[in-house]
Amino acid sequence: TIVVTGATGQLGRLVVESLLERGAPPADIVATGRAVDRIADLADRGVQVRQASYDDPASLAAAFAGADRVLLVSSDAVGQRLAQHQNAIDAAKAAGAELIAYTSIANADRGEMMLAKDHGATEQAVIASGLPYTLLRNGWYLENYAGQIPTYLEHGAVLGSAGQGRVSAATRADLADAAAAVLLTEQPRPVYELGGDTGFTLAELAAAVADASGREVTYQDLPAEQYTQILVGAGVPAPFAEVLADSDLGLGRGELEVTSGDLSALLGRPTTPMPEAVRVAVGALT
Ligand code: NDP
Repeated sequence: TIVVTGATGQLGRLVVESLLERGAPPADIVATGRAVDRIADLADRGVQVRQASYDDPASLAAAFAGADRVLLVSSDAVGQRLAQHQNAIDAAKAAGAELIAYTSIANADRGEMMLAKDHGATEQAVIASGLPYTLLRNGWYLENYAGQIPTYLEHGAVLGSAGQGRVSAATRADLADAAAAVLLTEQPRPVYELGGDTGFTLAELAAAVADASGREVTYQDLPAEQYTQILVGAGVPAPFAEVLADSDLGLGRGELEVTSGDLSALLGRPTTPMPEAVRVAVGALT
């Protein structure tokens, strides 16, 4: 049995769908999360759906019962998630799982971004559990950018604090499919560094948006403080705005660049290129 947490979210759902496409029997998959009404369709397809919260160890124990492998999809509660992840790791161990996989962040062992902290600490907790493990160090999602295209077009600009840094972003679908491949591998490696084949600068992102839309869009590099202020002015909660600007600084230092080739190797094909994801997103606007 393979347990997937966060299956009510975007990445986890795609992992379950990839497991099914790769031939895993639906009855051998357990999909968990809090808002399980969102995955009623997976239950209709024969997947076991069990409600569980990272904050409620008893719910995790019940959901993980019989687990051979557990994919722990990182929580979105930045700052509180180490305790949540520890609950899930403990539950995987108590269930007698033979493998725990964790969706970490690219370069978690050397990254200095705020976001890398929880991930690095969770990696240590995974290792300390003594369970066989595999760390899926996911790079940035391409959707982080593709989802902002209306804003880029409105302002004729991509704003950021990333300088000339390159980000090896990949689609959630590619990262999810790689996770499924790993979960179905007999003996996965302890660490995979997962990113798109071709990293890009935010100036190249802006150029791709311009190209796909036929409009003028340029990259405007800003000091992190000014970028944070602009995000707050646009309605982003201040702590999150700080995290975003801080992540851009990490991008600028190369902490979101991945050159391992692990993602395309797991997929057995090239990763989805940024300009293609941009074209699809621009096309969906009209
Ligand atoms: P989503 O927000 O779509 O999904 C988050 C998932 O986490 C949901 O299934 C949610 O389930 C689950 N979750 C959150 N809190 C709890 C909890 N207390 N107990 C149980 N489950 C919980 O995010 P994505 O699927 O897009 O991304 C997955 C993770 O990747 C994120 O949670 C975040 O850690 C990270 N991330 C990575 C990014 C990147 O660019 N690489 C960007 C953004 C996030 P429910 O609410 O039903 O409980």
